[in-house]
Amino acid sequence: MEDTICAISTAVGVGGISIIRVSGNDSIKLVNSIFKGKDLTKVDSNTINYGHIVYNNEIIDEVLVSIMRAPKTYTKENIVEINSHGGIAVTNKILEILLLIGCREAEPGEFTKRAFLNGRIDLIKAESVIDVINAETENARSLSVNNLTGKLSSIIREVKKELLALEANIEVNIDYPEYEDIEDITNEKAIIALEKITEKFDELIKESKTGKIIKNGLDVAIIGAPNVGKSSILNALLEENKAIVTDIEGTTRDIVEGRIILNGIMINFIDTAGIRETKDIVEKIGVDKSLEKLNDADLVILVLDGSRKLIEDEKELIEKVKTKNHIIFINKNDLNKKLNIEGITGNAKETNGLDDLKKAIIKEIESNTNINKDMTYISNARQLSLIKKADNSLKKALQGLKENIPVDVITIDIESAKNNLGEILGENYKEDLLDELFSRFCIGK
Ligand code: GDP
Repeated sequence: MEDTICAISTAVGVGGISIIRVSGNDSIKLVNSIFKGKDLTKVDSNTINYGHIVYNNEIIDEVLVSIMRAPKTYTKENIVEINSHGGIAVTNKILEILLLIGCREAEPGEFTKRAFLNGRIDLIKAESVIDVINAETENARSLSVNNLTGKLSSIIREVKKELLALEANIEVNIDYPEYEDIEDITNEKAIIALEKITEKFDELIKESKTGKIIKNGLDVAIIGAPNVGKSSILNALLEENKAIVTDIEGTTRDIVEGRIILNGIMINFIDTAGIRETKDIVEKIGVDKSLEKLNDADLVILVLDGSRKLIEDEKELIEKVKTKNHIIFINKNDLNKKLNIEGITGNAKETNGLDDLKKAIIKEIESNTNINKDMTYISNARQLSLIKKADNSLKKALQGLKENIPVDVITIDIESAKNNLGEILGENYKEDLLDELFSRFCIGK
């Protein structure tokens, strides 16, 4: 039998209330042994009960205790939630007592892990729980709630069912060729069915880029030679003094990050060390990092100093950014103009031109994403890589069919795609995958 786990589910700190959650078959019995009020073992499910936590004849706190009986609970086990006053000492004391009377402290995400292992939610839904918790924008919340309520899961399940039907038909044809009433799956029919599915997958793969941007934000690297005003621009965009601004070249040696929300999307600004040839080892590390960030970024803002001619490094940078989504910002337009290049002009010191810069970023977001209310995007690398694998298997099957390989041979590829889909839902999982996934949760979830 599973042991009884407990954890503080609310954020640690001072607040109105704290919730200590207990799950397991014995949870009600155990909490009842330290509760003074109604007999919790006899109260109805889904009730809130007033009383006191009492241990060694000492009143620990005045509490409200929620009783939720299996199986209709978060974990499908008996759950008790103790609502105590929201103080650090009082909450810790109740947790400590629970451990003394036989509960075990839950690992991060263990309640949700039990919900998954007990069959209440699939792995997509479990992952979306973390996404809902981590969502910082309205779009990210909306996307993760759609997955939590099962939109992506049902698409995957539907495709799996179609593949199973296709496979079954093929097998019937192989096993009982004499039954003419059973649909004879010809290559033609299998091709039509599989093409429909791979189209669906290709769409999901294409849209996953939007899902990633909604969930993780748009990574925008601010690059340029030293002293062109990169840090000043970042500070002006963030409306705070986060990056260090100095006129000594090479002072922004590390990557400074800051975030704002534009058009419902989190923008992760990455200020980088000025890019130039350097012999200074520490500065060189910064420069290499900048180039790395330039490559990884979804969007690059190349900052140039409008008051002077281009230097060699900048000419190279202009070439480099051409392969990326980029915006050129020509700074220091308060000084004499010496540069004739297309771009947004401004003066970061006086936050001049920054609205135009923000508008250009929004335009980039709009051309890169296709956000709609009905979002069901794949929002993590695990799901995406499995969809890609399934897609590849089915494309292999399609190719085989087009080359007139007998249909029974392609069942191997269909089977493999079905397994990948099952893996997305968590039907066949490896223990270390679960450990990794749930370790990303907070304690008490
Ligand atoms: P970074 O090395 O590219 O990050 O550049 P900083 O933001 O540290 O700025 C370098 C210097 O240029 C500082 O002295 C800033 O005050 C100055 N600076 C930044 N933007 C402007 C601007 O638009 N006009 C003028 N005149 N000076 C600026």
